[in-house]
Amino acid sequence: MRVHKKRLDIIADVASFIKKGETIGFVPTMGALHQGHLALIERALKENQKVIVSIFVNPTQFNTSEDLVNYPRTLDSDIKLLSKLSEEIIVFAPTPKEVYGDQISSISYDFKGLENEMEGKFRPGHFDGVGTVLYHFFNIITPNKAYFGEKDFQQLQIVKKLIEIEKMSVQIIGCPIYREESGLALSSRNKRLNQKQLDESPLIYSILKQVKKDFGTKSVTTLNKWVSEQFKANDELTLEYFEIAKASDLKSIKRKQKDTKYRAFIAVFAGEIRLIDNIALN
Ligand code: AMP
Repeated sequence: MRVHKKRLDIIADVASFIKKGETIGFVPTMGALHQGHLALIERALKENQKVIVSIFVNPTQFNTSEDLVNYPRTLDSDIKLLSKLSEEIIVFAPTPKEVYGDQISSISYDFKGLENEMEGKFRPGHFDGVGTVLYHFFNIITPNKAYFGEKDFQQLQIVKKLIEIEKMSVQIIGCPIYREESGLALSSRNKRLNQKQLDESPLIYSILKQVKKDFGTKSVTTLNKWVSEQFKANDELTLEYFEIAKASDLKSIKRKQKDTKYRAFIAVFAGEIRLIDNIALN
């Protein structure tokens, strides 16, 4: 399996694929790979002649230095995992300097308000960082298709907006959330949970499922209050936000309207570790 650390090396590979008329699927990740990532990569392998997976802990999308420092980095085992899946995968694992040059900074984007909701409110600058690194990666890799998880549903909407803003031709494909049997959405950060936190964490999805069940009959205010009470009663998990929002513009709502798609979004702290999840409500 080919692993490139240098921008010029991956560019050379990409040029040879394009010359042969081969389609390129791209799966951007921050590594510490799990089955959720692998599901995206498997789909990319089915739909493209070449698949490039980036493994890059992007400094500009972290809003606290502790989170950046503590983010798990497991490049060797990631590479082993990918080579078991397919020797054909091409890995791009650059240093920040290869991506950003000497100045590690974000482009300031106007994502038409998507960036001001939920994750944007609680993680200032996060989506500028995501937009910037993807802008660089899309320019280097020129993929036909790029794959993103609905686990980060707001990010998925932002990436679609980025493509519009930058007038790029890559097709953005959203993939379903992959969960543990317990219901906990897989995340690289789960590796940092202790046993007690792991035992309590399935509560997040069970609350989302209950909200989905009750969405037709209970008011948004009642549901918001109920969710907040569930977390007050839990010693391991602290609610950061819970919002019911329109799937299209991610604006949170007080009242439901007809013919509109809604999702519930949640962010929870287990100690220092931040977990997010979401669910389609209708
Ligand atoms: P990350 O490495 O956390 O930046 O994630 C890389 C990609 O994998 C993003 O598009 C995520 O949305 C996606 N992803 C992460 N966890 C999951 C999951 N449990 N199910 C589906 N996609 C996921």
